[in-house]
Amino acid sequence: MRRFIILLMACCFSSSAFPQKSMHEYPAEKISPHTYVIHGPTERPNPENRGFMNNPAFIVIDKGVIVIDPGSSHETGTMVLKKIKAVTSKPVTHIFNTHVHGDHWLGNNIIKQVYPEVVILADPRMIKKAKAGEGQNWIDSLDRLTDGATRGTKITYPEQQVVNGDALKIHNFNFRMYSVGIAHSDTDIMIEFVEDSVMFTGDNVAYKRIIRLDDANIKDNIAACDKAISLKLKHYVPGHGPTGKVDLVKQQKRYLEILYAEAGKYYDQGLSDFEMKPMIVKSLIDFQDWSGFEHEVGKHISLAVLEIEKAEFE
Ligand SMILES: [Zn+2]
Repeated sequence: MRRFIILLMACCFSSSAFPQKSMHEYPAEKISPHTYVIHGPTERPNPENRGFMNNPAFIVIDKGVIVIDPGSSHETGTMVLKKIKAVTSKPVTHIFNTHVHGDHWLGNNIIKQVYPEVVILADPRMIKKAKAGEGQNWIDSLDRLTDGATRGTKITYPEQQVVNGDALKIHNFNFRMYSVGIAHSDTDIMIEFVEDSVMFTGDNVAYKRIIRLDDANIKDNIAACDKAISLKLKHYVPGHGPTGKVDLVKQQKRYLEILYAEAGKYYDQGLSDFEMKPMIVKSLIDFQDWSGFEHEVGKHISLAVLEIEKAEFE
């Protein structure tokens, strides 16, 4: 009996000393007449951020709400729904997924549960790759990296395809689609919301955050930045980091250009990726305080060298 009481006390104590964690509150910032962005943390997924690290956005127009990239989990999708409810009682009718990386779209499922009629749109390459196992890979790695904070998240794949050059009218508002080659992930679509002069770049652009390039083609990613810049829009919502003007796209482009040009220069001199790293890190000094720099830069140099080598043999 005594043992039972001690056990009971231990249980009570532990549950009050370590309350179940839930996600921090992140504001939905209104960036233009119809558009709101929830700017997520810029760190990689971890137990503290509970896997939330992207920029879910929503657009409130006449007959409904359009969501762009509802985040990495049921919890982030639930937060997006809560933020929408605080602004409007209109239903979510459409979701755009910018690319296959699960931190951007695994919130689809919870929104579909609440709004079964919702139409989910993505590039056909995204749908194919997600179904071929990338979706489940992301479920597994987010669960691991967050110590189970995203557990229970289920997959809902997009079903409607959008490709480069598409112009869509949704509730009488205009959306244009852009995609440039492999770019960030070989599944990317950038979405222009015409009436608000807003571009959702997906991870073709990040700001104050060094993006992973594991699935990227650096030259195509630069071309995607050029496309976004050429449209001269008022607002650019990057995949990660603060929303801003076109300058943030130019910064992303500059990072990629320095990386590629310097790697090419030292490659021609016969240096290995390891030998060229100190010089390239110096050239990228403006980006050293961006989240993830230390973690990614070595890998970025190796990827740039691989891409340069490959281009030589083509
Ligand atoms: Zn990505």
